[in-house]
Amino acid sequence: MPVFSHSRILSYETCPLRYKYAYIDKVRPDVEETADTYLGTRVHEALERLYRNLDYGKLMSQKELLAFYKREWEKNWPDSILIVKEDSTKEDYCRMGEKYIADYYRRYKPFKEGKILDLETTDFLSIDEKNRYRYYIRIDRLMEMGNGLYEVHDYKTNLKLPDQKFLEKDRQLAMYSLWVRREFEDCRDVRLVWHFLAFDKEMESYRTIEQLEDLRREVLAKVKAIEAAEEFPGNASKLCIWCLYKGNCPLWIKSRGDRSSDGSKLYKM
Ligand code: SF4
Repeated sequence: MPVFSHSRILSYETCPLRYKYAYIDKVRPDVEETADTYLGTRVHEALERLYRNLDYGKLMSQKELLAFYKREWEKNWPDSILIVKEDSTKEDYCRMGEKYIADYYRRYKPFKEGKILDLETTDFLSIDEKNRYRYYIRIDRLMEMGNGLYEVHDYKTNLKLPDQKFLEKDRQLAMYSLWVRREFEDCRDVRLVWHFLAFDKEMESYRTIEQLEDLRREVLAKVKAIEAAEEFPGNASKLCIWCLYKGNCPLWIKSRGDRSSDGSKLYKM
């Protein structure tokens, strides 16, 4: 049974060729990941640790949390990583994450809003009547607020703040909220909450049942189209500098000649 995640669909939308390398041919990329995704993973992991400890009645101090973050940062730094931003270093990225966590901690301490139902929730949402297509669910933090209200929280480390219009169209959290509505019979509404950590900003949105049904149909049509695709053209764009498959991509090689000309750094240790 095919499983499609938000990032899988997004990968196809951004560049079908990259999608083919990653999901069909399963090509091993030049480097393991980008410093941006590494930062996101470490920050998510730290916030998960904070809330897991709260589940057991322990409130970590900010100092303990940052020490955990820095320990994991050093321990997991991969042998090869792509740092796109010119002149940025491993330490610069680490400091960015420290700031995100410290700001978040100051803003939300003592973290008592609502009941934590789950962290890093992993499940699948059936999106068609025959139960053939499933959508991967991965919720950073699922909260029950009482009176039938649930909240889906998502941490973002993006360096660009989207506008409200963009969030009203967001697919990822909206699909998660459809899963919440199916899972919890008493669910009256779902608040979608984004934490844009680089801006110390919380943004929210809601979806009606009708909007979710339209979205489900739209996602189903999209995954069927991806499944049926026979050609996977490259889509060269400014996003190519973050692509881990540049070394394989004829468009990149043709347009740039070599990898160093884009201003990104390829670290191999
Ligand atoms: S380098 Fe650009 S065009 Fe080539 S696969 Fe990656 S995203 Fe697509």
